[in-house]
Amino acid sequence: LDPGEFRRQGHMVVDFLAKYYENIEKYPVLSQVEPGYLSKRLPSSAPQDEEPMEAILDDVHQHIFPGLTHWQSPNFFAYYQTNTSTAAILGEMLCAGFNVAGFNWVSSPAATELESLVMDWLGKMLDLPRPFLPFGNGGGVIEGNTSEAIICTLTAARDRVLRKLGHNSIAKLVVYGSDQTNCSFQKAARVVGIDPRNFRALKTTRSTLFGLSPDSLEKAIRLDINAGLIPLYLCATVGTTSCAAVDPLEPLCKVASKFSMWIHVDAAYAGASCICPEYRKFINGVEFADSFSFNAHKWLLTPLDCCCLWVKDPNALVNSLSTDPEYLKNEATESKQVIDYADWQLSLSRRFRALKLWLVLRSHGVQNLRSHIRNHCRLAKLFEELVEEDPQFEVVFPINFALVCFRIRPSGVAGMSNGHADNEHGEAWKLNEVNRLNAQLLHAINASGRVFMSHTTVGGVYVLRFAVGATLVTEKHVIMAWKVVQEHANSLLSMPAS
Ligand code: PLP
Repeated sequence: LDPGEFRRQGHMVVDFLAKYYENIEKYPVLSQVEPGYLSKRLPSSAPQDEEPMEAILDDVHQHIFPGLTHWQSPNFFAYYQTNTSTAAILGEMLCAGFNVAGFNWVSSPAATELESLVMDWLGKMLDLPRPFLPFGNGGGVIEGNTSEAIICTLTAARDRVLRKLGHNSIAKLVVYGSDQTNCSFQKAARVVGIDPRNFRALKTTRSTLFGLSPDSLEKAIRLDINAGLIPLYLCATVGTTSCAAVDPLEPLCKVASKFSMWIHVDAAYAGASCICPEYRKFINGVEFADSFSFNAHKWLLTPLDCCCLWVKDPNALVNSLSTDPEYLKNEATESKQVIDYADWQLSLSRRFRALKLWLVLRSHGVQNLRSHIRNHCRLAKLFEELVEEDPQFEVVFPINFALVCFRIRPSGVAGMSNGHADNEHGEAWKLNEVNRLNAQLLHAINASGRVFMSHTTVGGVYVLRFAVGATLVTEKHVIMAWKVVQEHANSLLSMPAS
């Protein structure tokens, strides 16, 4: 690595990215390429000799750009954003530049200590209860993503029980979430060895706004206990992936605690909003949980990957995940005065992720981060108002954060009025027809390349998801997005029914 060349090429890449951000709105938000497009454009083997950065960046522009879906575009409203900022991108650069593998304290003390510090800052910003923070004997760690956070905590929960009951009891362990819990929970359960028959995705309904009902949890647990099974773990969600539903933490925790279960709160998306006092109420009850995580890489101006996990009992993680090979032995570890974060996660090596988060927290400050969240929630409200003003559309669920779920309402569909199908096929036909029409609408919107939204189906109803979260989004983009929706809806609805 030649520092002079690094400086020259580094400036070139920063300029390249700055230009990308200047022009980001010119690109179709959703990539329009066909599968396999890239192998037709790039050589099938690596070059034998070096190539200049200029040529490589040229290829990024020519060949990679068309295959990018522009997640940082202000016209990106799909899934949940993974937003970023100057501070965080530069933090990533520092992380890659130092490239330390901070698996234990001695391998790079600053990586460990900054991580503890930043997690402590964030824990205070979220007003997490004392037992999650170091002075209450808890602690925070940065995992790559929520899937890892769930795997690690579920492993800790599993081992805590199996140590008492013996390994053979693994077949009896049951885990609980709702039919809205993110699919990462199901994958985690598989990885951790939970019998797939003991994975409970409890049904939610519109009457609880798709939050998990404490009664149905208790009923399911009691049925399982009567069948000789052992309730192990509850994954409660604040801000579900489909429709940002909120599981009622406090009553759920009260139920799960009766059975000594491990309770994890997954606030992957919505957790960031809880740095604002007015949104903190959504995690009321977290004091009764064992662990809490959210993805700073979704809504806190920090790029992938950065999942912040707090646990009340770090030893539970360490007991399951630590190893003690000769080649890692050192005095600091033996003194028990330090944290070795490899023992809190799956992999051994770990990136210095705390740097980017530290840069974000310092460069913006708490007040600006709160404004960032509030601005997105305000823009989501604006979009909601625009939808509600148009009688052809409806907002399907009340919005909690910055996600609007909407659709063309049944009365907007030819042959139906007031939500009733005036033909012999009845209700099922009506729902299918409305769902099909809304899917067509989404396809047309996204094919335009002007904006990108995504969809979900909740309770059999297909909805378009408009998730505000891009760093660069403004009122102008929200209003434009709504115009795109209306234009495509008008042309669909004016077409003769097929
Ligand atoms: N949990 C929730 C509520 C989510 O919305 C998501 C992703 O959107 C996940 C978990 C998965 O997170 P990750 O991709 O970090 O594993």
